[in-house]
Amino acid sequence: MLNIQSCIIVGSGISGLSVARKLREYAVDLTLIEKGRSPGGRMATRTEGASIFDHGAQFVTTREQVFRERVENWVDKNAVKPWYVGPLGNMRYVGITGMRSIPELLSKELNVRYSEKVTKIRFRKDVWTVTVLPHGETKTRTHQSDFLVLTAPVPQSLKLLQESNIELDYDEEEELSRIKYVRCISVMAKLKGPAGLPNPGAMDLNHDVLRWIGDNYAKGVSPVEGTITLHSSPKFAERYWDAPDEERIPIMLAAAKPFLKSDVVESASHRWGFSEPTRIYKEKQPFRVPYYLDEDHRIALCGDGFNGPRIEAAAISGASLADRLVRPY
Ligand SMILES: Cc1cc2nc3c(=O)[nH]c(=O)nc-3n(C[C@H](O)[C@H](O)[C@H](O)COP(=O)(O)OP(=O)(O)OC[C@H]3O[C@@H](n4cnc5c(N)ncnc54)[C@H](O)[C@@H]3O)c2cc1C
Repeated sequence: MLNIQSCIIVGSGISGLSVARKLREYAVDLTLIEKGRSPGGRMATRTEGASIFDHGAQFVTTREQVFRERVENWVDKNAVKPWYVGPLGNMRYVGITGMRSIPELLSKELNVRYSEKVTKIRFRKDVWTVTVLPHGETKTRTHQSDFLVLTAPVPQSLKLLQESNIELDYDEEEELSRIKYVRCISVMAKLKGPAGLPNPGAMDLNHDVLRWIGDNYAKGVSPVEGTITLHSSPKFAERYWDAPDEERIPIMLAAAKPFLKSDVVESASHRWGFSEPTRIYKEKQPFRVPYYLDEDHRIALCGDGFNGPRIEAAAISGASLADRLVRPY
């Protein structure tokens, strides 16, 4: 095992939480630093009055046995339930009170510092010093550890490394800079009455404007009927990224209208700048490990950019990295 006494993990999405759950079994002094107010990253749920919307990831699927066992464990703990079988024959599971139920379960008993954005990192004499700017404050703080894991979408982690003047191995940096993501605009809309989407209350679309419509009531997440989430196509997100809500929301709602039984009364949007990776670290290199590790500089990167655009792939990236870190020599 690498001699790790303390570890800072930047990000409390599924990959960061997967690293943390494993390392805590080895009595590593762990600190997770999360710029958001809650855990989960792209596994996000928003509450608006009595309505509940999943506006990031919509469901979790399992292809590998090791992850299936983790999801079954979450079902046993009443954090997750099956929703329906998708077109590829995989069960689509959802969080009991939205996708946030999963990170909420996994972050229990972990030391997560919320609303702290990491702005700079420095490595001197085998110690990492991580500078954070707490939300709403003007003064920075620092945290220290002898190992560092970055789990933000890869372009964001690379930007942090560059702004901190930290150079990675030239070839590896080239490789990492090829990892690309698409954007997505999410619209959360309240309807006058039931959404009326066909069973199971969700549609994968291959449409110019929309790629997903989901009814959070049919999903069993929102107690209120007519609580829908729309996801834009990457092409639409690219085109309307900087447009005001008054321009882009009506176009997305008009595209959804033929599928809905009730009119929209209220809506809001959320932009995902790094929604899913389209090119990953393992691209055409299936035997490459699903993380980046530099033992000399005591730093690692993981997340969906290393393994695929799904919760399962991100979780496996984090868990594989943690297995490597604690593996006996
Ligand atoms: C709209 C949308 C729909 C999706 N649908 C599905 C789906 O249905 N099924 C599925 O399996 N997958 C889906 N995905 C993909 C899935 O959500 C991701 O693959 C997975 O959640 C990625 O987890 P992660 O830990 O790698 O990254 P993230 O979840 O992005 O976690 C990274 C964390 O790092 C934090 N962070 C970043 N920078 C800093 C900083 N400087 N300081 C502190 N904290 C920082 C972020 O706030 C975030 O919490 C979807 C994604 C989106 C956006």
